[in-house]
Amino acid sequence: MKTIAIIGGGAAGLMAAYAASRTVENSVILYERQARVGRKLLATGNGRCNLTNLNAGVSHYHGADPAFVRPALEALSVADTLALFHDLGLLTVEGEGGRMYPLSDSANSVLDVLRFAIDRENVTLKAGEPVLSVQRTKKGFLVETETGKDFADEVIVACGGCAGSKLGGVNDGYTILQSLGHSRTTLHPALTQITSDSPYPRSLKGVRAQAALTLERKGRVIAVNRGEVQFTEKGISGIAVFELSREVSTGGACTVALDFLPDYTVQQIQSMLTHRMETAPHLSTEDLFTGILHNKLGRTICRAAGVSAERIGSLTGKDLSKCAKMCKDFRINAIGTGGFDAAQVTAGGIKTSEFDPRTMESRIVPGLFACGEVLDIDGDCGGFNLQWAWSSGAMAGGLHR
Ligand SMILES: Cc1cc2nc3c(=O)[nH]c(=O)nc-3n(C[C@H](O)[C@H](O)[C@H](O)COP(=O)(O)OP(=O)(O)OC[C@H]3O[C@@H](n4cnc5c(N)ncnc54)[C@H](O)[C@@H]3O)c2cc1C
Repeated sequence: MKTIAIIGGGAAGLMAAYAASRTVENSVILYERQARVGRKLLATGNGRCNLTNLNAGVSHYHGADPAFVRPALEALSVADTLALFHDLGLLTVEGEGGRMYPLSDSANSVLDVLRFAIDRENVTLKAGEPVLSVQRTKKGFLVETETGKDFADEVIVACGGCAGSKLGGVNDGYTILQSLGHSRTTLHPALTQITSDSPYPRSLKGVRAQAALTLERKGRVIAVNRGEVQFTEKGISGIAVFELSREVSTGGACTVALDFLPDYTVQQIQSMLTHRMETAPHLSTEDLFTGILHNKLGRTICRAAGVSAERIGSLTGKDLSKCAKMCKDFRINAIGTGGFDAAQVTAGGIKTSEFDPRTMESRIVPGLFACGEVLDIDGDCGGFNLQWAWSSGAMAGGLHR
């Protein structure tokens, strides 16, 4: 009989508990700080839970050593993960870009099947019981909570990162692992909005637009992306922005160039605007982009291009060229990102070099394991972070041992 203490009832901890409980000789204790397990899981994918992505692979992960994810992703691949969830009774459906969701469109379904899966005799759930410390003993570990100390032969730290603090993101996992001799890298918020001190995001608050985004620092292109951009009080948001936010939070201030008509050349746009000028010269300049872009965005582009004529008919060819160029190269300063409270994931974490990627066991403390976001691994937006939680959790829980 082996007692396995799992600290954290999030995605990784639930999967680790499921994996560990498959061996009937194991006695599993799952500790959860919050009153219920899986609180963050319920908020994922806007409540729909984008539980994995068919394209999951090393290239979608970040950290000091992204290849650390490979053995876990091979041991519990996306196909294995889907088969496992199907076996637990979950129906799934494919969305855009290989994103997988529960067919019910409800994150609850994912949590429910996991809860049912760990509702076994050899699993003790201690919800509302934060683990305060873990001490090594000669034979194993003592896991301390407010109600006492439990002995465990093995400990799995699945406390997550500090992102999404309103949903329970805390530093406990780092603290516990550091107290046992581990070290961590610098933490940064990732998959969050980019903040700006430029005047336009605020005046465009609420506007959504499709755009190609280019991040530049000191004249050098550091990242590109394409998708929906949402203007907010403090900057820009939306999935395409989230995916670039890591570059800003880890690398510092830069410029974001937005191309609102990436499928058209400047010349094509200028021809469209010339046509508008010839056919509707009486319209206000504010309507130059009407029908082409969101009205508010069109007006802002004219203003940013410095075009002051009142009527479209009074615009010059040079004005039209400036407007066409502006809508393909609309620049705002990126001065930072949203904080950990708004971030979906933590970039950075406990150093992966201190763990064996084939087992998730500590190279420093035998019998100690870690999985999920607490480690220095973060994935792209689109189901990659949960896949990492499932694969690393299953491995730490010994699904393949
Ligand atoms: C709003 C939002 C939306 C997201 N959407 C998606 C998405 O659609 N797809 C995707 O792939 N990823 C998404 N993510 C990221 C994903 O949710 C996380 O990467 C993933 O949940 C990490 O799993 P984890 O188990 O490592 O950590 P968590 O899920 O954070 O779980 C850690 C658990 O440990 C508990 N805990 C912490 N300290 C202690 C302690 N001392 N004692 C006991 N328990 C403790 C916490 O309360 C928590 O329940 C989203 C994140 C957020 C914030």
